[in-house]
Amino acid sequence: MAPTFTYEFKTAAYTGKTSFGTGVYIDGEFRDGSSGKTIDVINPTNGALITKIAEATPADVDTAVKAAQRALETSWGLNVSGAQRAELLGKLARLMEENLDELSAIESLDNGKTFAWAKGVDVAFSIQTIKYFAGWADKITGQTIETDEKKLIYTRHEPIGVCGQIIPWNFPLLMFAWKIAPALATGNVVVIKPSEFTPLTALRMCPLLAAAGFPPGVVNVLVGYGHTVGAAISAHMDIQKVAFTGSTLVGRKIMAAAAESNLKNVTLELGGKSPNIIFDDADLEQAVNWAAHGIFWNHGQACCAGSRIFVQAGIYDKFLAEFTKKTASINVGDPFSPGVDQGPQVSQLQYDRIMSYIDSGKAEGATVHIGGERHGTEGYFIKPTIFTDVTPEMKIVREEIFGPVGVVIKFTDEADVIRQANDSVYGLAAAVFSQNINRALETAHKLQAGTAWVNCVNQLHANVPFGGFKQSGIGRELGEYALHNYTNVKAVHVNLGHRM
Ligand code: NAD
Repeated sequence: MAPTFTYEFKTAAYTGKTSFGTGVYIDGEFRDGSSGKTIDVINPTNGALITKIAEATPADVDTAVKAAQRALETSWGLNVSGAQRAELLGKLARLMEENLDELSAIESLDNGKTFAWAKGVDVAFSIQTIKYFAGWADKITGQTIETDEKKLIYTRHEPIGVCGQIIPWNFPLLMFAWKIAPALATGNVVVIKPSEFTPLTALRMCPLLAAAGFPPGVVNVLVGYGHTVGAAISAHMDIQKVAFTGSTLVGRKIMAAAAESNLKNVTLELGGKSPNIIFDDADLEQAVNWAAHGIFWNHGQACCAGSRIFVQAGIYDKFLAEFTKKTASINVGDPFSPGVDQGPQVSQLQYDRIMSYIDSGKAEGATVHIGGERHGTEGYFIKPTIFTDVTPEMKIVREEIFGPVGVVIKFTDEADVIRQANDSVYGLAAAVFSQNINRALETAHKLQAGTAWVNCVNQLHANVPFGGFKQSGIGRELGEYALHNYTNVKAVHVNLGHRM
């Protein structure tokens, strides 16, 4: 039996206790990992150790895949009806609702996001996602296709089988929900690897999955490192599909491993450098508020962060003055303190990466308009930062920083800003602000991005597809589109009279 982690929250936002296993979760139980090694889970607010959890290995991946295959053949997959799958997903959502505060507190502790955001966005949206896909579970249907009167042809949308899922640390529980919900709704079994930086909410979900009634082996959770467990999932011969959210760099490795092993089906949700275009005729106050939300939400650790803010010359000075005030008003501090907007970055590694981007911006001649330095003396806090006087070839303009760091760029010409906005290897999201609907929609249609927001940013809904153009990804999550990632289409031909 793997050790149990118990923690008492005594914070201004939440008091209560949590307790769950810290092992590898295989076949419905927490077990010791095969290596006996552990991973330190660090509190980003102060750098202190929260707990140690079992470090999974490729051998654990093999064991989990076998458990998943057994479940697929005996207690899940084609053995259960869509209605039964819907019922279990619905129960899971209800259990999460009952544990809303506890899940939010764990997420806040582990990731550093504020308790209020964890509760209002991460956990709430995770529950909505599971409910949404519960609704689809008994509506997975094929088609009948007419050829001639002596043939009956129909399609079946069958589960793919064992799905490997690899998720990042920026929205730990939400990515867990985005991944498992469509997979389970369509009858698949799962081996999922949370990020080694933020494993706790995924582990807390394991007893909830069991309590909801999911048979052992349907969902297996292995926390391990990317180059070992992630690589083993990507290359496994008995995993039929891999779904990944994370960096473009790792996405490439996963696709290569999938191609070289069993040519498994791949979906990727990758990075971004999303443009936010603010025209002269935008509602200034709204543009400022949304632009700040666009880049500073989740401490800038959002793949769709509006990190390149293009502002038309006529409104530029006023915008910059108001945007600076708004940025200065962001309250950075303890994620459990009421009134705090921004907690720490997730890890020392991310803190160092972001600070090195800030240094590169300075070295390349950009101006730190506000921020650009650490906040406080402990933990991984960075002040919300805006650069001006940037040029298109600077690293801070081209590369994803994944922190609270935006660049503000003045433009005059509409065609030119669209060219600049599209001058990126990424194409995840984009936003446009204008009160002229023709201009706004024309621009939205010309932007190379999987999501285009008009007079808003960072809006996501369980029933709306999300994913990237270009190097931002392959396939779509959420909405009906996500179901296509998790089913094999079989065409059945029935001969009603053709004779040879
Ligand atoms: P990452 O790519 O380093 O890690 C993501 C996951 O992949 C982790 O679980 C990690 O352990 C695993 N991994 C690392 N190396 C691996 C390998 N060789 N094989 C298999 N798995 C491996 O990314 P991160 O630092 O955790 O997250 C930040 C990145 O994720 C950003 O670039 C961001 O844009 C991207 N992201 C994208 C989306 C989206 O929806 N498009 C959402 C969140 C994050």
